[in-house]
This record gives sequence, structure tokens and C-alpha cells, in this order.
Amino acid sequence: MLSRGQMVLVKDGKAKACIVLADQTAETRQAAELLNKFVGRISGVQLPLVPSSKVRRNGVFIGGKSAGLPSDGYQIACHGGSLLITSGGGRGAVYGVVALLEQYMGVNYWAYEAYDCPRCPTISLPAIQLQDAPAFRFRQTFSYGNDDPDYILWYRLNNQSEVFASNLWVHTFNQILPASVYGASHPEYYSFLNGQRRPGAHSQWCLTNPEVFELACQKIDSIFKANPGKTMISVSQNDGNNTYCQCEACRAVDEYEGSPSGNLIRFLNKLAKRFPDKQFSTLAYLYSMHPPKHVKPLPNVNIMLCDIDCKREVPLTDNASGRDFMRALEGWGRISDNIFVWDYGINFDNMIAPFPNFHILQKNLQLFKKNHATMIFEQVNGQRGTDFSEMRAYMLGKLMWNPSLNADSLMQVFLNGYYGRAGKYLYEYQKILQGALLASNTDLWIYDSPVSHKAGMLNEHCMAVYQELFDKAEASVRDDSVHLARVQIARLPIQYSELEIARTQTGLDKAAVERKLETFRERCARYHITRLNERNNLVDDYCRLYKERFLPHANSNKAAGAKVLWNHAPAARYRPIADKALTDGLYGGASYVESWVGWEGEDADFVLDMGEKKTFSSVTTDFLMQSGAWVLLPKSVSYSYSQDGKTFTNLGSCEFAEDRDLSIRFVPGEVRVSSPVTARYIRVVVKTIGLCPSWHYGVGHPAWFFLDEVKVE
Ligand SMILES: [Zn+2]
Repeated sequence: MLSRGQMVLVKDGKAKACIVLADQTAETRQAAELLNKFVGRISGVQLPLVPSSKVRRNGVFIGGKSAGLPSDGYQIACHGGSLLITSGGGRGAVYGVVALLEQYMGVNYWAYEAYDCPRCPTISLPAIQLQDAPAFRFRQTFSYGNDDPDYILWYRLNNQSEVFASNLWVHTFNQILPASVYGASHPEYYSFLNGQRRPGAHSQWCLTNPEVFELACQKIDSIFKANPGKTMISVSQNDGNNTYCQCEACRAVDEYEGSPSGNLIRFLNKLAKRFPDKQFSTLAYLYSMHPPKHVKPLPNVNIMLCDIDCKREVPLTDNASGRDFMRALEGWGRISDNIFVWDYGINFDNMIAPFPNFHILQKNLQLFKKNHATMIFEQVNGQRGTDFSEMRAYMLGKLMWNPSLNADSLMQVFLNGYYGRAGKYLYEYQKILQGALLASNTDLWIYDSPVSHKAGMLNEHCMAVYQELFDKAEASVRDDSVHLARVQIARLPIQYSELEIARTQTGLDKAAVERKLETFRERCARYHITRLNERNNLVDDYCRLYKERFLPHANSNKAAGAKVLWNHAPAARYRPIADKALTDGLYGGASYVESWVGWEGEDADFVLDMGEKKTFSSVTTDFLMQSGAWVLLPKSVSYSYSQDGKTFTNLGSCEFAEDRDLSIRFVPGEVRVSSPVTARYIRVVVKTIGLCPSWHYGVGHPAWFFLDEVKVE
């Protein structure tokens, strides 16, 4: 006996309903295909597509407009023995089908090509009356699943190329007016920084120059003509901080407006007036994050506001960096209803490391909504093997659609669904990790290192609990290879953290560390996880270097524990560690935040006092190259030696060639002599390159170099 309103789609393996396309749009056809794909997976049969004139009852009518719904919104209603899925435009019909599958047909889509659906020869539906619409009109993540077309539909995600002409959506100055084309003949188009014009891929435009505006208009006009149907383009600063033009005219505007965003908004408003039928997006990012005091963006100027500098351990309202961003968000919210928030939930330097930001996702999205954001991009680690990437993408996909969903419930649904019986242990792990992070009062941020948390959420006692929970989690799914693989991938961040912390400690059982390194390498290989960070450093290279740098059993450094006498000390924030770090036998890792000692735009000059005369034939200093963080190689390093600490004899020097590689590397500066010398003192002088070069993000600003161990053999 069927209850009132109940509708049977399939009975005993035979189709009982049919699909009617209410319009012929691509989205409606896509919605019908998605429905039939899962009806087929559940029951083994598909529903026939029938013209509407032949259907009286048991039709699934897909498509057609529903008045009053926004784009991507949908309505599902039972009416006269049929089911109607109508749309507010956009992909509303598809998203209605997703709701039907998820809420009424038992289908769950977890991650890349990973879904659960029931197998049953009969599919019946209760009476349904449902209407829904997104909180934000544009929703994007770099999520785990972006190469799976059904996943994209399931999580109702957009892609920037759907919206922005020629895929120009961020950091576009150099794509619109390349410095390589105009820089030599018109350096005045580009930023005046530190006394001169500095054209380059990471320089900015001189926004008060009227020729720049006219040339940009010509380029933009031709881009729109080449991309018919597109109405939006980003005209936005190149990546890098504080590289805006500081010529007299630009500076006057920025001073009057109280922010470098003043020149940008004035420029963008002129574009918006020149092309009133188009939308112009620009960045409010790093130096331009705060709104101008006077000029207001026109309605067709879109503000892409980025919270890159914010710390992630608490919501944006609850720490200093977040409050600074909130002032910017509220300021922009007062003068614009056209805000695109670019939010970060990523650790660029250590993707396979715990990043427990799940407790702040919902609150932050609610803040964006409240302050007039209409478009959202969540920049998260979207690769397999990075910290709980599948769950982060799941929760963000759901919350970007509806930020009032309960985040903790979403977490539990995901963990139990995706990890099966192991889910409860992973939930416990997440909760302890979150509590330990909050209790530690330590920042969580985009260039984080597990080493920064070794006294906090990754302390010895916590790590023991996490390992025990993962042991239980693995044991609970031992006979289930799919779930076991997922649990072992979720464990990698803890295993990586253990290795990272081990290399900063002395007196460890190195054989045991080597076994852990091998387990990490072997599991990464088994699950095809190759990359360790956003700079393309590879797991295999990491493991090889780990053996070379951190595992040697004997410390052959004759300068071990040497006293350092400073002629030119490092930057103030590195002085507390500098006296020990250069000769403690512990090498820095892939992040400058620990063990490395840095100088900003200045030379280093120091003397090592080894306490007594020693005989040696080589001196090597270890340098870090992390170009994305303005950490470049110096120009040169030179060594000299002395018996009395007063008169020094040159040992030799080592020049570094410019290297534009973005990957993180350790580069030795070595001098070796054929006949050994004997001395008590060694002087090390490192010459800086001065300012970051024009091709670099930091053009016109002081470059850093970082060094760690000085090895004397
Ligand atoms: Zn200027």
C-alpha cells in the first residue's frame, strides 16, 4: 500500500516512471543524466526519457523556471502523481537532482570517485516539498575531487573559467600589460620603488599614468571581443607585497585615500565607467586589503578580498590578524555589495601536516555572508594525501552552500561515512588535536611547520594519543582495503610531523627514526602521494635528504658547539637562536620558521671560535632557498682563518648564480683547500644580493638569506 504522495520510480527492476525534460538547456539534460546514472547504479535500470505530451502520471519533470528563486536555487515538489524539479536558473535543476539523490535516495558522495549508494531493485519516494538556494552565488575550492565532474556537481562548485574572460581572475596586471613587452620602452608604466622605476613580472602599474589606463582599455576591449559571452574580468595587482608604485602622483592619492587601494579603486571605477556593461574585479590583498577613505567602488567593480595574513587557530573575530581583516571586511561591506572573499585553509609549506582549522570554517563563512560577500573561494590543499583534504572539501562544499549547517555534525557524518568503522577514532583524534591547538596558544598559519607545534598540539603526550587512535583506527578496518587505505592516508600528517620533530631533537634512537622514515616513504609510494608542499618538493627527495642531513650517526663538524662572535648579527627576531643554531649539529628543514638564521638585505659577518687550534681543509655553510618567501641565495660566502682572532688569512670564497627555481632547496656554500690549515678562529662573510630582483615577488625590497650549520672538516 503506497502512502499518499509516494511515487515509485523503479519496482522489482522495472522502470515505473519516466523523465520529462521541461526545457532543452544543457543544465536540464545534465540533471537528467545525473539522476539516471544513479537510478541505474541503485536499481540496475534507467528511466526512459519521454516527451511531456505522453505523460499523465509518474513523470519526473526536470527543468523550467521557478519564479522567485535565485540562480542555482531549486524546488522539488510532488504534484498530481508526478515529481517536479524546477530551477531558478544556472545549475538549479542539477542541484535539485543532487538533493533528491542525497536526501531521499540514500546516495553519499564523499570524495574523488568515492560514493556510496544503496543497491535495491525498487526505488520509491515519499511526498516531497523542498526549496533551497545558495548563500553565495559563486562557490569554489581547490578541493580533492576537482577532476571528477560528478563531484563538482554534487558539491555545487564553480570554476573561475566559467565567469572570468580568458580565465583572467587574479594577479592579472602582468598578463594584461606584460613587463617583458612594455618594460624596456616604457618603464614609467611600472612601479617606482626605492628610487627608480622597476618594470617586472611582479612589479605593479603606475596607476596615475593616463597612458597605462588607455592601453589597458585597449587590451581589455580586445580580450572581451575574443571571449564573447563573458562579462567579467579581473584587473588586479601582481602577487607580492608592498610593490605598489610610490611615484609622487601615486603616493599623493594613496595618502589622501589612506590606503594603496585608493589608486586601484579610482582606476577600476574609470574602467567600470568606460565599459558599463562589464564587471571588473580587483584584489584587496596584502598592501591593498584595507578600503580607501573616500572613493567608493562602482556597483560593477568587484572586490576580491583576501585574508592571506590571518592566523587560523580561531575564527577571524578572535585574534589580532583576524580582527585587522574584519576591519577591512566591514569597511568594504559598508561601501560595496559586490565582494568576493578569497579565504585560505592551507599550509603552503607543509601540506602533509595537521591543519586543524575545521572548527573555524562555519563561523568565518557566516562572517563573510553577514558582510555582503556574494562570491567565495576557499584555497585549501586539494591533493590526495594532504591533511584531511577530503573532509575539508566536503565540509566547505556544504557550508559554502549553507553556512548555517552544523559543522560538527558534518564532520561526524563525513568521518563515519568515508572511514567506516574507523570514523569514531578519527573524530576523537580531531577533537583532541583541536583542543590541544587551542590550549597551546600557538598560531596556525599558511606557512606553518609541525616543529612550531612540538610543545603544543604535537607534544610528546598528544602524539602518543594520536598514534594510539590511529592504531585502533587501522585495526578496526584491517579487513577492508578501501577504508584501510583511507585511514593510512589520513595518518600521514602525524607520521610526517613525527619525522620533522625528530630532526630537531638530539639523543634519539636514529635507527628507529630511520624505520619511521621508511614507513612514511613506503606508504606515500603505495598511495601515489608524491608532493610534500606547494613548491613541488617531492616525498622521495625529502626522504633522501632526511637521511643525508638528519640521520648521520657521528657529528664530524670540528666547529660543533663553537662560540659565535658577531661582527654583523642577523635580523633581530633570529638573534635569540643565532648563538647556538649555527653549530648545534641540527640542520634546518624546508621552512625558515625554525633552526634557520636570517639576514634581511644586509651582509652577515661573524667569527667562530672553536676554543683551540684545529686542522681542517673545508668549510661549508648551509643556505636555504625558498624564493616564494623572499628567501633567496646570497651573492657569495667567503671564509678566512686566524690563530689569534685578529689577523685573518683568506681561505677562499664561493659565488652563487641567480636561481629562479621556486622549489625549496638547501644549497651548500663550500670552500675546500688541497693542503689542510690549522687555526682556532674562522670568519664567515656572506654578501647579500641587496634588493629582490625585478622578476621576483619582492621587487625593489630587501631580499633575505638564511643559513644554518657551518661545518668545518
Ligand atoms: Zn605611479
